[in-house]
Amino acid sequence: MDFSLTETEADLAELCRSFAQGEIAPRAPKAWEEARCPTDLLAEMGQLGLLGMLVPQEWGGIGASTVGFVAAMEQIGLADQSVAAAWQAHVTIGSLPLYLFGDDEQRDRWLRPLAEGRALGAFGLTEPDAGSDARGIRTRARRDGKGWVIDGSKTFISNAGTDMSFGVTLLARTDDGSSTRPGYGVFVVERDTPGFTMGPKMPGIGWRGLDTRELHFDGVRVGDEHLVGDPDAGLGQFLGTLEVGRISIAALSLSLTQAVLDLSLAYAKERKQFGKPISEFQAVQFKLADMATELEAARWMTYRAAWLRDRGLPFRKEAAMAKLKASRLAAEAASEAVQIHGGTGYMLDSPVARFYCDSKVLEIGEGTNEIQHVVIARALGC
Ligand SMILES: Cc1cc2nc3c(=O)[nH]c(=O)nc-3n(C[C@H](O)[C@H](O)[C@H](O)COP(=O)(O)OP(=O)(O)OC[C@H]3O[C@@H](n4cnc5c(N)ncnc54)[C@H](O)[C@@H]3O)c2cc1C
Repeated sequence: MDFSLTETEADLAELCRSFAQGEIAPRAPKAWEEARCPTDLLAEMGQLGLLGMLVPQEWGGIGASTVGFVAAMEQIGLADQSVAAAWQAHVTIGSLPLYLFGDDEQRDRWLRPLAEGRALGAFGLTEPDAGSDARGIRTRARRDGKGWVIDGSKTFISNAGTDMSFGVTLLARTDDGSSTRPGYGVFVVERDTPGFTMGPKMPGIGWRGLDTRELHFDGVRVGDEHLVGDPDAGLGQFLGTLEVGRISIAALSLSLTQAVLDLSLAYAKERKQFGKPISEFQAVQFKLADMATELEAARWMTYRAAWLRDRGLPFRKEAAMAKLKASRLAAEAASEAVQIHGGTGYMLDSPVARFYCDSKVLEIGEGTNEIQHVVIARALGC
């Protein structure tokens, strides 16, 4: 199996490396400190075509392969995790439901601006009482004449509240509550729709630049053209989209692990104690060797899941395994990296501390790691 990049994929990764090092790395830390979503950087990424990564050119995107997207993410996430998190949420869960399940009119109206980088997309699944248990959502869309009326709340929704946000693509119950087989539909709600409001940006341990909010829908009226796909098949559409999101979180985790490995190696060679660089102590060497070895394993699992998707082969189990392995590694590696930096690494103004803060959410987003275990166990036949 050959995972080497094609010329197009390598060019894309190089474009991302150059933008990440030239623009994101110097500008993103300020946005992190100010807990502000750096939409200026995201808009510039849009001008480079990077917001339409997985969308074909016909709909305004650049039609990159999933392998190319992973390689691009390795570069973007190395520079800043909040920018990479906002970017990947837009590229995968924020845009793909419209591409995969929308009709041509919906793609032209809502997907094209997202893919061309003129707006940010958001994915509204999680609710205050329904996180891992997506079937338990309570947001309801009721048929009313030629359209629908939506009532309910979503929480932890990324990219819906920035100055670039177009609104949200959300999941709602479409049955009347009496059926034993609940129906779920996917709806587009644009930001200025009457009855659609949102709370303030929610502060987290990390990803401080990511705009994450509660969304509220109070008698929100939308026409039939806002329903994406089958009014009863929305749950499958949303869960299927999350599988791509898991490859994306795995790739984000690779970038974080590479970043903390690079920082730790450089620091260990420079920091002297007991008259020699701490990289000469075996205890430090073994931490670095473990990080590098585990990173190599997680990297190939992630590229393999992406490679399977690019060939139209099943990748659910492999995406869950890659996300589980890579996010767990990122959290462990970030902790060891702070350890190698000692007190310096504990201080919030050090880059390694920022990566440490950003690492925990990788084990929670796009399905917690316990849910990845559930997906993998089911695939094994449990
Ligand atoms: C920064 C951030 C951004 C996010 N962005 C979005 C977004 O854009 N769109 C969106 O829809 N959601 C988003 N989320 C929500 C995220 O997907 C959920 O937080 C996640 O799915 C977990 O749901 P929960 O928080 O309700 O936890 P819960 O489901 O309440 O889980 C709590 C704990 O119970 C465990 N648990 C639950 N069920 C099981 C089980 N069956 N077996 C074993 N353990 C179990 C979980 O693993 C976890 O440890 C975001 C979250 C964060 C933190």
